[in-house]
Amino acid sequence: MIVLKTPGELDLMDEANVIVHRVLNGIGERIGVGVTTRELDQWAETLIRDHGGVPAFLHYKGFPATLCTALNDVIVHGIPDGRPLENGDIIGFDCGVLYKGYYGDAARTYAVGEISDDARRLMGATRKALDLAVERVRPRGRLSDIGNAVQKHVEKNGFSIVRQFVGHGVGTSLHEEPQVPNFGRAGRGLRLKPGMVLAIEPMVNAGKKAVKVDADGWTARTKDGTLSAHFEYSVAVTPSGPRILGLSEILAGNPDWFGDQPIGAPRESRHVGQRNAGSQHAGTQYAARGYA
Ligand code: MG
Ligand code: MG
Repeated sequence: MIVLKTPGELDLMDEANVIVHRVLNGIGERIGVGVTTRELDQWAETLIRDHGGVPAFLHYKGFPATLCTALNDVIVHGIPDGRPLENGDIIGFDCGVLYKGYYGDAARTYAVGEISDDARRLMGATRKALDLAVERVRPRGRLSDIGNAVQKHVEKNGFSIVRQFVGHGVGTSLHEEPQVPNFGRAGRGLRLKPGMVLAIEPMVNAGKKAVKVDADGWTARTKDGTLSAHFEYSVAVTPSGPRILGLSEILAGNPDWFGDQPIGAPRESRHVGQRNAGSQHAGTQYAARGYA
């Protein structure tokens, strides 16, 4: 079942996502050579609790941290640790917050120091794919238009789309229907309606799409060892188009964090202003996939 949210609920979800993006902005300010993801994780937990929120990933199906981190060839769901970040690393941070009964969920990939041109191109293409996907969010638009926009841009740039993890609806649960794949043919699937909220999150590999999961049961990497990037917004469908939740805080961030793609919403929306077998979602087209 897809749960539609009222405008008042969307405002609460905006508040939850403001906290998420405050965390991500703060990571952008703190990240650098020698910093550890464990330090950033502890800082993030404190900030979330100081804002009256609860870290949504901590203890989720046993996940041990506030942030999911994704260093270099890690795609999603890495566990923060004590390894100092090194010049040339790229690292994704995925953050979830429960606030006043609603979930916020977003992710960004950051550069540490000077990264390679290839890494920068990968990050830029992933960011741009997210913007193109958001532009497809409109009433009576099709769900598959979102994934199609991501896939077209990513493959045009010579990169590949992860199939094994998908985006998702979000609201009073972290993962709601529908699943939101980052691939597929346009013009199919359900029609978008005002009040739907979708976590759109392209996961893009520099090499092949295949995934392997570490012995910790969480950390998902590229099988071929190439780099991977991940960006995510929670996006509401409104009568006038997409509303990126937490946008006010996103726009407060530094655009330099995002390589060659400017941060923020596509022009037209500015005015609006695991592991999981998915068994509880049986009946949806992508029921066997995991959520990111
Ligand atoms: Mg996320
Ligand atoms: Mg998500």
